Amino acid sequence: MKQTMKFQREADPEWSERFRTLPGCERISSCIQCGTCSGTCPLSIYMDYTPRKIIALIRAGFREEALSSKTIWLCASCYSCAALCPQQIHITDVMYSLKREAIQAKKYPPRFPIPVLAQEFFNYVKNWGRNAEIPVVLKMALKSNPFILLSMIRSGWGLFRTGRISLKRERIKRTGELQRALSAVKEHSHA
Ligand code: SF4
Ligand code: SF4
Repeated sequence: MKQTMKFQREADPEWSERFRTLPGCERISSCIQCGTCSGTCPLSIYMDYTPRKIIALIRAGFREEALSSKTIWLCASCYSCAALCPQQIHITDVMYSLKREAIQAKKYPPRFPIPVLAQEFFNYVKNWGRNAEIPVVLKMALKSNPFILLSMIRSGWGLFRTGRISLKRERIKRTGELQRALSAVKEHSHA
């Protein structure tokens, strides 16, 4: 990603303050920008902003850049960064908070499959109570990049043939109760 020069007047310091009050994000201010997180992250070479830069963007109040970065969707939640951070910053939790806000604000990179997959997975489980790989993956591809299906045909067929995935859809009983519980969690996270 092309990273352009940013000016302080473009920042949103109030958002930065608010973000630092979220669970797991309270210690962001103590970051010393040592780069240990970026050095240990197995995926940082694919990220547009390394974990160290993500922390710097949040502290400086660059909401737009932090929320629309691919980094937060590439994070595999391996916790290496959090385990090694000398300031005990919960970087993985920070990534989750950014993901939540990016989905709410619809700020994720256009046609990028991972956030679409997260959203489709949530919708499916909310309605059926169970995941079903084939419809979720099809929706993800249609809403992001249909060509992605071409790269999945071989492995998908192998999984289907050996019974690891199926076209059968299962619904749990009392999905209404599940939906009420999920709505309560959503309301709580907005509070
Ligand atoms: S390892 Fe911790 S202190 Fe160092 S740059 Fe990353 S978040 Fe900041
Ligand atoms: S939790 Fe995410 S950001 Fe941290 S090291 Fe693992 S992949 Fe990288």
